[in-house]
Amino acid sequence: KAAQNIESAFLFYSEEMNQRAKEHLRIESELRQALSNNELMLYYQPKVSLRSGRIVGAEALLRWRHPVRGLVSPGVFIPVAEETGLILDLGSWVLEEACRQVREWKDANLIMPPIAVNLSARQFDNQLPKRIAAVLERHGVQPDQINLEITESLLVRGTDNVIAIMNELVAMGMALALDDFGTGYSSLAYLKKFPISTLKIDRSFVIGLPYEENDCAIARAIVTMAQQLRQEIVAEGVETAEQMSFLRELGCDQLQGYLFSQPIPAADFAGMLREGKRLAFGNR
Ligand code: C2E
Ligand code: MG
Ligand code: MG
Ligand code: MG
Repeated sequence: KAAQNIESAFLFYSEEMNQRAKEHLRIESELRQALSNNELMLYYQPKVSLRSGRIVGAEALLRWRHPVRGLVSPGVFIPVAEETGLILDLGSWVLEEACRQVREWKDANLIMPPIAVNLSARQFDNQLPKRIAAVLERHGVQPDQINLEITESLLVRGTDNVIAIMNELVAMGMALALDDFGTGYSSLAYLKKFPISTLKIDRSFVIGLPYEENDCAIARAIVTMAQQLRQEIVAEGVETAEQMSFLRELGCDQLQGYLFSQPIPAADFAGMLREGKRLAFGNR
C-alpha cells in the first residue's frame, strides 16, 4: 500500500515536472519570436529624491506584449531566459532600446535623469564594457545617462575578473547599483571589494516598515552601512506614506514604488518628467 502511494506520488510529481518542462520550452520558443516580432517593450518606473521630491532617475523594466496572453511580466520569462541563455539577446535589446529612447527624449529637449538598466550575471563577460560603449556611442548617449543594476549573485561569483569588468565600466563613467540588496549572500567584506555606488534595499524589507521590528532593524542597518561606505541608498517597493516617513528618518536618499508610480510606458514617463511635479514632500 505504502509502495503504491509512493509510486503514484512519483507519477504525479513527474507529470508536473513534465508540464513545467513543456511550459518552459513554449516560453523559450515564443520569446525568441517576441524578439524578432517587436513584442518586447520597456516600461519606466521613477525614482524619487526624498530631499527634493523630484524624479531623479528611473528604472527600465522589460515587458512582453504577448499576442494572445497580453502583458507578460518578467517574473515569468526572465528565469527561462536566464536558463536558456536567451537573456544575452534580451539584455542587448534592453540596452539598445534604453539608449534609443534616451536619445529620442534628449532630442525632444527633455531634461533626463539617469535611466537604470538591469543586467543579468550572464551578461558579465570581458566584452561587456566594449559592447556597452559601442551602443552608447551609436546613440550619442553619455555613459552617466545609463546606470547598471546588478545582483548579489554576481558578487558571490566574486572573481577578480568580475571586479575588473566593473572597474572598466566605472572608468567609462557608468554607475553601478546593487539590486535586491539583502536577499543574497553577499557580506560586508564582499561589498567593499566592488565599485558599487548605490544599494537598493529589497522590497521584502520595505513591506513591513514601520510596524515589523525586524524589517526596521534590517533597513536601519543597511542604511547605516551604506552611509559609512558612502553609497547612495534607494528603497524599492515603497507603497505607503508610513514607509516613506520611516525611510526619510533613516536618511534614505531615493524611493521607488507604487506610492509614486508603477512602471509605466515611455510616453507616460516623459509626461511625468515634463510636468516636473514634486512627488514627496518636505518633513512629514
Ligand atoms: P527588480 O530589478 O528588483 O525590479 C523591481 C520590481 O519591483 C519590478 O517588477 C517592479 O515593478 C516591482 N515594484 C516596484 N515598486 C513596487 C511596489 O511598490 N510594489 C510592488 N509589489 N512591486 C513593485 P517587474 O517589473 O515585474 O520586474 C521583476 C524583475 O525582473 C526585476 O526586479 C528584475 O530582476 C527582472 N527584470 C526586469 N526587467 C529586466 C531586464 O531588462 N533585464 C534583466 N536581466 N532583468 C529584468
Ligand atoms: Mg532592478
Ligand atoms: Mg530590485
Ligand atoms: Mg527586488
